[in-house]
Amino acid sequence: MPPLLPIVLLLLPSLLAATGTADDICIVGSGISGASTAFFLTNYTTSLPQLRVFERRGKVGGRLATVTVGGDDFEAGGAIIHPRNLHVRRFAALLGLAPRDDGDDDWLGIWDGGRFVFSTLRPPPPGSSWLRRRLHGLANSLLLLRRYGLSLLRMDSFVQEMLQKFLLYYNGFESRPVFDSVEEMLKWSGLYGLTQRTLEQELIDAGLNSQTISELVTVITRINYGQSVSISGLAGAVSLAGSESGLWAIKGGNWQLAAGLLKTANATLHLQEGIDSISDAGDYYVLKSNEGHEYNCKVTVVATPLDEVNIKFAPPVSIPPRKMQHTHATFVKGLLNPKFFGLSSVSDIPELIATMELPDIPFSSISVLKKHGEHDMIYKVFSRAKLDDTLLDQIFSIREETIRIDWPAYPHYHAPEDFAPIILDGKHLYYVNTFESAASAMETGAVAAENVARLIISRLPLGLRAGLSSPESELHIKSFAGEQDSGRVDL
Ligand SMILES: Cc1cc2nc3c(=O)[nH]c(=O)nc-3n(C[C@H](O)[C@H](O)[C@H](O)COP(=O)(O)OP(=O)(O)OC[C@H]3O[C@@H](n4cnc5c(N)ncnc54)[C@H](O)[C@@H]3O)c2cc1C
Repeated sequence: MPPLLPIVLLLLPSLLAATGTADDICIVGSGISGASTAFFLTNYTTSLPQLRVFERRGKVGGRLATVTVGGDDFEAGGAIIHPRNLHVRRFAALLGLAPRDDGDDDWLGIWDGGRFVFSTLRPPPPGSSWLRRRLHGLANSLLLLRRYGLSLLRMDSFVQEMLQKFLLYYNGFESRPVFDSVEEMLKWSGLYGLTQRTLEQELIDAGLNSQTISELVTVITRINYGQSVSISGLAGAVSLAGSESGLWAIKGGNWQLAAGLLKTANATLHLQEGIDSISDAGDYYVLKSNEGHEYNCKVTVVATPLDEVNIKFAPPVSIPPRKMQHTHATFVKGLLNPKFFGLSSVSDIPELIATMELPDIPFSSISVLKKHGEHDMIYKVFSRAKLDDTLLDQIFSIREETIRIDWPAYPHYHAPEDFAPIILDGKHLYYVNTFESAASAMETGAVAAENVARLIISRLPLGLRAGLSSPESELHIKSFAGEQDSGRVDL
């Protein structure tokens, strides 16, 4: 037998050698935060070392993902984009991604577990005239005004004030500092105070009556964050903004934003390669992956919430404890059972069933995603706990297909909030998702990522692109339209 051992020993150092140079910038996570970080780094600099993005799953996008039910794709995670989400809006425009055609207006019903305490009017049939749709909208506004009165206007002012402050994050570089802590970032825009008190406290001070808070506001926070009005005021205001008009989504799936940005940034994508540990090696970090590979990285950006992932840091990093709120998204192809709602016909059930904060209600919301026919619909149910088959068989009279997804969806918000550092070790280990403790959304991920990109550039000799005054003035994005399958496999 040939003496194999010496050959193996000779080969061993090269087999174990780390990949990449100690100049690489490595990003852990390919969701909108990781993809935006890669994108802004590329766009704001003249010379960038190799960018590596690690994704433990087989597809990019993270909490932006679609699910196929009854042959159609639907958003399973992050679904709606606010018209004033300027980064996402411009990403979509520059990547050539079109908005999805959305059909009917929502027909909202607020369910207290026994009856619908409030419903808007059933929408006019598809294809109705502009006038009929407009009149329907006006009638609904009057109904809302009759029930909630001036509180509606006060709620709107509360949201507009938050949005005005949030818009400061799109200011040009001359009038917007680079922030190295979330507290500083929020104090600069005037939003920090909202993270220190609950939404309920803020709204009482803003003059909203208790019926509006326990009904309208509560159903919105339950739909958008799966939580009650005891969430922090900022998360609450962001959630309320998610009930305004003009909301939209990307045709074919919001995950394409992440895929397009990563492609544009020319990042080396390591799909299905999770990072198990990040060790400080002096001038660089050693990232060990679950594939047994090691990567030397000058800069490491963590672009995933650290609360439920098991990355070992050496030396350890210290971050305040944070719980993720789990949202169970259950997709059903079938038909709701009118008896469960005390109604005689399924056609009387509102198309968006929103719920109040009462202990016996097993779901946060049920919405119609598609109507194949009068007895064949696709629904999305959000709940805080898994809905078992027995319960689903009470809520639905027909159930042909059921898909369940358990999301570690967003932080469990409380007040006062505290924030993990953006720079985790005082060196070049950055954490984008600390900003999620302020509010979780596609846009907040992009805003936090843009600041992290600027922070990295300000602390390394990377060369800021000349003439960059406004972050949006110099976006260089190749058209991504038509390249639908980049980095994508089935959920
Ligand atoms: C049900 C639901 C509904 C929502 N609705 C909306 C909405 O309507 N509008 C809106 O704007 N936002 C919404 N959100 C929130 C929004 O989806 C998130 O805030 C946003 O997508 C988070 O992006 P991210 O990149 O920060 O994190 P993620 O999308 O979670 O990305 C992190 C990535 O890191 C990867 N990863 C984790 N650990 C490792 C590791 N060790 N190694 C390598 N990779 C790793 C993960 O697999 C993941 O792909 C919703 C979220 C959920 C779940």
